[in-house]
Amino acid sequence: MCQYEAEDNLHVLRECPVAKDMWKLIVSEASWSQFFSNNLLEWVKTNLGNHGRLPRHGVPWSTLFGILAWRIWKNKNLFVFQELTWSSVEAIKVSISWAKRYNAINSWDSSRNSNSEYLLGN
Ligand SMILES: [Zn+2]
Repeated sequence: MCQYEAEDNLHVLRECPVAKDMWKLIVSEASWSQFFSNNLLEWVKTNLGNHGRLPRHGVPWSTLFGILAWRIWKNKNLFVFQELTWSSVEAIKVSISWAKRYNAINSWDSSRNSNSEYLLGN
């Protein structure tokens, strides 16, 4: 996507300008130096372990982080194989929308009592 030669996973998910622009739209500037440090494993562990909610949207950071990281990876593939690109804003909007839906389903599920029937399985 950029001219950087060795595109390892951390580059694609966080360091590539395309990815960085997206993260900078949802990570506050005061947290950039912390967010853009750490190796891949620590970065993923720290963010998936952060269940604090986004002020305006109410979704847990961990959910949005996982979905946006996946979206960035998907977009990389879209670009490589189909030459399609998404704008940063588009990717963020879709990710927030999915995170909200995931969160709604999740809270619906955990609020059910143990005797209720599931939609699938037992
Ligand atoms: Zn790159």
